[in-house]
Amino acid sequence: MLPFVHRVFVRHKPILGADCHSAPFAFLLIFCSVVGGNHEASNYLWELYHGGWVAPNIYFLGHAGVVNFGGLRIAGLSGIYKSQHYDWGHHEAVPYTEASMRSVYHIRSLDVNRLLRLTGNVDVFLSHDWPAGIAAHGNLHELLRRKPFLKEEIEAGSLGSPPGAQLLQALRPSYWFAAHLHTKFAALVLHGDGSTTRFLSLDKCLPGRQFLQVVDFESIHGVGPFQLRYDAEWLAILQATHSLTSLHQRPPPPPPPEPVSRACVEAVENNLASRGLQNIPHNFQQTAPAHQPDEGFVKRRGRMPRSELRNLQTQALLGVLGLTYDLDHGTISVVTKHEGRSVNAGVRQNAGMYGPQEPLPEMVNPEEIDLPDDNITDM
Ligand SMILES: [Zn+2]
Repeated sequence: MLPFVHRVFVRHKPILGADCHSAPFAFLLIFCSVVGGNHEASNYLWELYHGGWVAPNIYFLGHAGVVNFGGLRIAGLSGIYKSQHYDWGHHEAVPYTEASMRSVYHIRSLDVNRLLRLTGNVDVFLSHDWPAGIAAHGNLHELLRRKPFLKEEIEAGSLGSPPGAQLLQALRPSYWFAAHLHTKFAALVLHGDGSTTRFLSLDKCLPGRQFLQVVDFESIHGVGPFQLRYDAEWLAILQATHSLTSLHQRPPPPPPPEPVSRACVEAVENNLASRGLQNIPHNFQQTAPAHQPDEGFVKRRGRMPRSELRNLQTQALLGVLGLTYDLDHGTISVVTKHEGRSVNAGVRQNAGMYGPQEPLPEMVNPEEIDLPDDNITDM
């Protein structure tokens, strides 16, 4: 493990049985912090709305989230930006429709609003799509040589996420890692106060592509502890904004982002300390059947879940913060039917919430299982 101390590996790699070939991953020692993009199992990430272990060593930052690791403060925003869904609540419930299975991973203003309340330094920010305008801060000529079809969007200023740009300007993180456009691109943003953000996006994880980068943080921070730790200010923000979470399609807009008071942050610190919970507990529990590679890629798309689960990790975190569970869309599963292979009782119980396997058309290229997003007409 020691050779990896102070190092973050960012790469693209499939997880969750889906082809999230463009999700940015930050590997921290044996850990990996991830944000969701447009290729993940959205129902599973919804269970972990405020973050949690999607697998024993892979920590999902949540739809928005902040953690600390080895002295680094790491923030992230999941999803991709679509203006028409930005002000929506998280109304999408399983079973998803053709429209909701796409809008479910579109960024919501409330999650950005929470991140805008952060004060203090952010060392690393993770997002799936690029912040708007970032292309102008790197080698644009080379980018357009490799991706000529981006020219129109770049010239129109429509490439990338406006809330991403807003967060970049507000938080001025030392590093920003993203993905989505399937090309390696580095940029350097100079902020008005003299600070800088080093931006890096990487290519798909395929032979011959530039999908891996070693970043050494030794120069910017001290050592340890090498555990993922809660961020007290972030948890105080979750407490202060809990009532704003909406499962309605068109909720009232969130109020302007105000920082939380030092007293609120200290109350969270004391609460965590009294519970011995400064480190994020390793409380992963499998809640869905695992990917079975021997079933062949025709079945890799899985089945549409029919009802929601309450993830114990989310319940535990909300309990610690004294917050009610507010993520049910009203289709909570009471599972009776046993189905399929399973590795433990929990999975056997939950397997019945997945619908019957429907025959799927044979795919031409198993590396490309996409939800085409841009040609969806909205409700
Ligand atoms: Zn993407």
